[in-house]
Amino acid sequence: MEKFNKVSFIGFGLINSSLAQVFKLKKLANKTSAFSRREETREKIRNLNIVDTVNDDIEDCVKEADLIILGVPVGAMEGIINEILPYLKKGVIITDVGSIKKKLVDTLEPLLPLGVSFIPGHPIAGTEKSGPDSGFAELFNGKWCILTPHKDTPQKSIDKVKFMWEKAGMKIAIMDAEYHDRVLAITSHIPHLVAFSIVGTVTELEDQLKTEVIKYSAGGFRDFTRIAASDPIMWRDVFLNNSEAVLEMLGRFIEDLTALQKSIRWQDGESLEKLFTKTREIRKGIISEEQD
Ligand code: NAP
Repeated sequence: MEKFNKVSFIGFGLINSSLAQVFKLKKLANKTSAFSRREETREKIRNLNIVDTVNDDIEDCVKEADLIILGVPVGAMEGIINEILPYLKKGVIITDVGSIKKKLVDTLEPLLPLGVSFIPGHPIAGTEKSGPDSGFAELFNGKWCILTPHKDTPQKSIDKVKFMWEKAGMKIAIMDAEYHDRVLAITSHIPHLVAFSIVGTVTELEDQLKTEVIKYSAGGFRDFTRIAASDPIMWRDVFLNNSEAVLEMLGRFIEDLTALQKSIRWQDGESLEKLFTKTREIRKGIISEEQD
C-alpha cells in the first residue's frame, strides 16, 4: 500500500500522540501535521518532536491533507467537522478514534460532502493517562481496532485506514456502529461506570473510614481507582452519547447485582459459588484469547 502524502492529527492526547509515533517510526506519511486547541498543548507537541508541523490554525493543519484523524472527545467532533469543512481536499479520508460510534455516524455523515470518505474507527487500547506526553507507539500492539464504515464507502478508503491500524500492530474488525456501541457498553462503559461509582462512594465516607480505605487499598479497590482516574471529559461524552446501550446493559447488570444481594442475604452459598466458578472461566477465556 502506498504511503499517505499529508496526514493531519486533530486533537493530540493519548491516542493521537501514540498514533503519530507509529507514523514517524514506520514512515507512513510524507508529511504529518497536528492541531490542538490550547497553545499549552501545542507547545507540548512541539517539544515531543513527533510531527513535522504543529499548526496554530486548524485550517492550515487540514489543508491539502489526504487523511485527517480526529482524536478529541466525541462531543467535540461535530464542531470540528463544521470548522474544517471549507478546507477539505477532494478525496480526503476522515477517520476518528472515538469510543462510541452510532451517534457520531448519525451526526457527522450528513455533514460531509460527496468525495469525502468518513471511516469511523475505535482502537480498543488505552490507559488512564491523558495528553500528548502520555502517548507511546506500542499502545496498540496486538489489540483490536473496530471500524464501522457506511456500506457505500469506497473499499479503497477503508483499506487505507485498515493499513494504518495494521501498521500500528492492531487486528481489524468491521462492525455495524450500533452493534459496536452495545458491545462496548458491557465490555468498557459499564465497568468504568462501576469504578466511578465505587470510588465515588468512598469520597462520601466519613474522614476516618476514608483514610483507612485509602491506606488498605491493596487488591480490588486499588484496581478500581486506576480505572476511575480516566479522563472526566472523555467519559462524560461516552455516557452522554451512548446512553441507550449503556442504560440497557445497566438494567441487566442491576438485576444481576440484586440477585447476588439476595443470595448473600439468604446465605445461598451454592449460587454464589456457581457464579464465581462461571466468572473464573470467562477470565481463562480472555487470557487464552490474548495468547493466541
Ligand atoms: P486526551 O488525552 O484527553 O486529549 C484530548 C485532546 O482533545 C487534546 O488535544 C485536547 O485539546 C482536545 N480537546 C479536548 N476537548 C476539546 C474540545 N471541546 N474541543 C476541541 N478539542 C478538544 O484524549 P484521548 O484519551 O487521546 O482521547 C481522544 C479520543 O479517543 C476520545 O474520543 C476517546 O473517546 C477516544 N479513545 C480514548 C481511549 C483512552 O483510553 N484514552 C481509548 C480509545 C479511544 P487541548 O489539550 O488543546 O485542550
